[in-house]
Amino acid sequence: MFNKILIANRGEIALRVVRAAREMGIATVAVHSTVDADAMHVRMADESVCIGPPPSAGSYLSAAAIMSACEISGSEAIHPGYGFLSENPLFAEVAADHDITFIGPSAEHIKIMGDKITAKRSMKELGVPCVPGSDGSIDTIDDAYEFCDEIGFPVIIKATAGGGGRGMKVVKHQSELTNAFNTARGECRAAFGNDQVYIEKYLENPRHIEIQIFGDGQGNAVHIGERDCSLQRRHQKVFEEAPSAAISSEARDTIGRLCAEAVAAIKYAGAGTIEFLYDQGEFYFIEMNTRLQVEHPVTEAIFGIDLVREQIRVAAGLPLSFTQENLEINGHAIEVRINAEKFPEFSPCPGRITQYHAPGGLGVRMDSALYDGYSVPGHYDSLIAKLIVHGRDRKEALARLDRALSELIIDGIDTTIPLFHALLKEPDIHSGNYTINWLEHWLQTNRADSAA
Ligand code: ADP
Repeated sequence: MFNKILIANRGEIALRVVRAAREMGIATVAVHSTVDADAMHVRMADESVCIGPPPSAGSYLSAAAIMSACEISGSEAIHPGYGFLSENPLFAEVAADHDITFIGPSAEHIKIMGDKITAKRSMKELGVPCVPGSDGSIDTIDDAYEFCDEIGFPVIIKATAGGGGRGMKVVKHQSELTNAFNTARGECRAAFGNDQVYIEKYLENPRHIEIQIFGDGQGNAVHIGERDCSLQRRHQKVFEEAPSAAISSEARDTIGRLCAEAVAAIKYAGAGTIEFLYDQGEFYFIEMNTRLQVEHPVTEAIFGIDLVREQIRVAAGLPLSFTQENLEINGHAIEVRINAEKFPEFSPCPGRITQYHAPGGLGVRMDSALYDGYSVPGHYDSLIAKLIVHGRDRKEALARLDRALSELIIDGIDTTIPLFHALLKEPDIHSGNYTINWLEHWLQTNRADSAA
């Protein structure tokens, strides 16, 4: 096992990794930009190294700065968290070249899954059902017309290098295609430095259901249930739960087994998430994330496992500490993402926290790096806290969420907490009757109501 690991991230996820490492008796090294010198992840780690200025390009995204921090601190492994360099195959390669263990899958697997076209192609070959779409990139407007004629509208134009819900354009009618195609390519170039796009059939009202998998790199893999992440704003997840209210245990087992077999076949190592759209009883693969997900705690809650601990174990060459047969769902868990954003505009709201009180009690977990007097910087993602609740069933989890939200205090800045208070008043949230479009519709209707 490692003696010391470096965490190439910040905020709640860096803290999450510190916690797992400490329980395993592993020393941790935090890295931070100058604006994060007083951040909680820096305070909680055993050591810290300043790696650059506030803009992430010169700090959290700088492989050179992070590798130097590894050398200086004598770290043996790097946990990348999510975002930043976590899905950068070059970074995984550089680490390996320096004999530092990257806590994650091989650079090759990150690369295959990082390009959405090769990811879909590989999954198809492994027997996983995919959303109908172009086999490769669509590079000209003529090809776009020809392909859309074939599959019919509506379609969705997506970036091959996409992520974070960006660079996607839904096209409902042929007359919108030229404009959408050109705009999508421009946006993809700006966001990802790569304007390659592909086209998929647009599924009109599916759920987003993702399967957590774990491979040991030796050809064994398990599936660890699903998460339902259908409540989204601008294709970004807001509220996640496990298990999904929409699928049966048979459907869960069938898709789970298929996913585990697919990743076992490629000798995948570590945690991964295979994302699907689920429509009228059918699963359609959209992408695979080769890292820990933001919403991993709901899986941990219902299975009683520590996914970060397992990531570290597998990276160190140890077997998983459970087998498929040991994995049993216990109750229901929900996570809400609390952002430093003003509701209902969702405009960024960094600033100083004047008062912070985290909820507690049975079945409540708060993953956050906030503290009284902390200043949320404006340079990074606006996620400041994840509130996770666990109950014996969905009803209890929702009641617990309501109770925990009523205890939570984050003063000094605006946050998205009022969104969740409002959602908990909605019958559809209580019945579990929602798809990926529900939240956008609800936000539009509510805005129209409050404007009236
Ligand atoms: P990203 O990597 O940017 O998160 P994804 O491919 O994972 O992009 O898709 C994010 C979300 O966009 C999905 O959860 C879903 O809401 C929507 N989406 C993506 N592809 C389709 C599709 N073919 N039909 C309908 N919605 C889609």
